[in-house]
Amino acid sequence: MRIQEHIEEKIKGLREKIAVYNYYYYTADFSKCCYPELDPPDSPGISDAEFDALMRELTELEAKHSHLITPDSPTQRVGGEPSKKFKKVEREVPMLSLEAVRSKAAIVAFDKNVRKVLSEEAGDVIYTVELKIDGLAVELEYEDGVFVRGSTRGNGLIGEDITENLKTVQAVPLTLYKPKLVLGFMPKKFIVRGEVFMSKSGLKALNKVREKNGEKLYPDTRSAASATLRRLDPGVTAKSPLNMFCYGVVPVGKYKPYAHGSEVLGDLNFLDFNLNKHTESYKGIDNMLNGVKELKHKRRELDYDVDGVVIKVDTIPEQEKLGNSAKAPNWAVAVKF
Ligand code: NAD
Repeated sequence: MRIQEHIEEKIKGLREKIAVYNYYYYTADFSKCCYPELDPPDSPGISDAEFDALMRELTELEAKHSHLITPDSPTQRVGGEPSKKFKKVEREVPMLSLEAVRSKAAIVAFDKNVRKVLSEEAGDVIYTVELKIDGLAVELEYEDGVFVRGSTRGNGLIGEDITENLKTVQAVPLTLYKPKLVLGFMPKKFIVRGEVFMSKSGLKALNKVREKNGEKLYPDTRSAASATLRRLDPGVTAKSPLNMFCYGVVPVGKYKPYAHGSEVLGDLNFLDFNLNKHTESYKGIDNMLNGVKELKHKRRELDYDVDGVVIKVDTIPEQEKLGNSAKAPNWAVAVKF
């Protein structure tokens, strides 16, 4: 086989493998499990580290042979396909992924690039450092202050409608009572994003019950959150100990023009959304790196799983100047542990 053919075959093989694991991870319905090798329910099949290694191999091959990049390559897409069992939700503003970094040098390179785009006069950039909660990304839509629709991220542009299931999650406010007080007006549309997750103690309690009932145990908190939130029967979701941390508002319709992401979080807090209390803002790369280190240690004390730390440029006009790629914002990165 010629070298070129060998590379094409290798890329094809990696894409096929990744597509299968993506399906297991994001889309498959394990309540009607047709993959006997995937036991217990909602298991992603391989570890995240193994999955990330496959993605890295494909990304590196595509970078070296850019003429082989296709629009349907997993490197060009966000998440997985929405399951056909749910109604689809099309969104105006896609829910993106996050670029992953794995070393101090990569964080320093991110800061350098941010300052290059913002130009030298920008000086030290203000960053927020947040925990990357290991759960499911969801979007909550409110109309005139009433929760009307909730969806999973799906492929970014099209998510799965899980409104009724989300109504059973106690941390999701069904009515917003204070928008006029907090925002100064009642928005026709108000869209909030965050992560639904299951605590470690919640998983232990749920698995105890499943064991008693002779059911398969959930292997980890993410699988349990996904399997119980993405159900056709909201009764199952209602019995699961799910929680949610919110981290952002989507600028649609008439909205408050925020200067900083941290102000958005302040307003979400006053509007009674649940926020993670470990989010902090830092000026400049050295302080930000210290913040990342602190959160890395902190994760051992927590009753929920985190799979990294998210670093975000805090100033919103700067976020706008940095913009997004097709897959991820250029103003944020996920530091993977
Ligand atoms: P991502 O790593 O691209 O991160 C984006 C997500 O982070 C957002 O959608 C959001 O939900 C979440 N998030 C959590 N806390 C946040 C915060 N404070 N601020 C902003 N966002 C926050 O996520 P992804 O694209 O869903 O997943 C990619 C990862 O999933 C891979 O690196 C891999 O580890 C794992 N994966 C594993 C398998 C497998 O088979 N094991 C398959 C597919 C994906």
